[in-house]
Amino acid sequence: MQSSPVLKSKLKSGISIFSVIGQLAAEYNAINLWQGAPGFTPDQVLVDAAFQAIRDGSNQYAPMPGVLALRQALATKTAKLYGAQYDPQTEITITAGGLEAVYAAITALVHPGDEVIYFDPAFECYRPTIQLQGAIPVPIKIPLDTMKIDWDLVRATITPRTRMIIINTPHNPTGAVLDQHDIESLMSATRGTDIVILSDEVYEHMVYDGMTHRSMARYPELAERSVIVFSLGKTFHVTGWRVGYCVAPAEIMKEIRMIHQYLVYSAPAPFQVAVATALNDEANYLRLTNFYEKKRDLLIGSLSESALKVQPCASGFFLLADFRAVSDRSDRDFVLDLLRRKRVGTIPLSHFYNDGADTGMIRLSFCQPDDVLREGGRLLSELDL
Ligand code: PMP
Repeated sequence: MQSSPVLKSKLKSGISIFSVIGQLAAEYNAINLWQGAPGFTPDQVLVDAAFQAIRDGSNQYAPMPGVLALRQALATKTAKLYGAQYDPQTEITITAGGLEAVYAAITALVHPGDEVIYFDPAFECYRPTIQLQGAIPVPIKIPLDTMKIDWDLVRATITPRTRMIIINTPHNPTGAVLDQHDIESLMSATRGTDIVILSDEVYEHMVYDGMTHRSMARYPELAERSVIVFSLGKTFHVTGWRVGYCVAPAEIMKEIRMIHQYLVYSAPAPFQVAVATALNDEANYLRLTNFYEKKRDLLIGSLSESALKVQPCASGFFLLADFRAVSDRSDRDFVLDLLRRKRVGTIPLSHFYNDGADTGMIRLSFCQPDDVLREGGRLLSELDL
């Protein structure tokens, strides 16, 4: 080519490690302990409902805020679970996955020069999305030994330019959940400020050992300044359908919809219709706790002979494992070794840090069939790297 255009990347971070690991994992036909996508087929009833919706003609754009029946079902669910009333007309929007909701909320509410506090290690989309607004990411580290947010540090980090605090409970990748002290601290830290809370709660139905999911929706003082993000893909084992949603007070939601309409206009229509029918039976989502708790215990059990030191995990479908007893390599090299030599795919925890901190830990996911978890555990118990 004679004169190809000069390009200037908006994001310095490049292509996510998930794509890199995904490609290598396919090459090595590796055991999948790396991906946050459930390895099970969805309920046949749900699949049939999607086919039926297509046959019935749900093949054009859904309404911009989402199929009304789905928004109504979600209003009922949120009221029942968290005692919060969200108006399906003005306060609930169906998005193309939780990811789009995060992007739309940050884009709508954060302006150039604003500061956004979030907690490292963190799900990978927050930082780039903040940066794309010309805003300033302000990560605060969560100590991995306690997994507790240091609220004194949060208060000291808040400035007049702090526009948003991003919360993620249940947390990817640590599996930690907010407790009552966290909720009260968040209330007192934001009281009397213009700070908006973006609460990423996509793992809301996966909280174990009898613990409670403390959704922002439960606390009116927090709910009035919160956008809460959920994922129907995670809940119904259909992450590829790209259906999620967010709830927020009407004034905030109006801003988010202005962005959502130009991102995707609306989420996939037939899949919205299908999940609306699945929401009619609450057992379809309430059973997830038990389902994943057993998987967590299975993976932990199958690693009991391994030299990997597994961190406690209260929620979600990820475990952190410390490999320093086995190797002094960087976490990235260790992950590549595991792929090449054991054919097990995992994710280096450094990927979840703003500064790429190498803590000697990897992330394992347990959203896979039991035989995959058993085999992964067996291979990881024979580490001779
Ligand atoms: N937030 C967190 C913490 C996640 O782990 C994920 C998916 N891995 C998402 C949001 C995005 O969810 P969805 O698949 O619904 O876009």
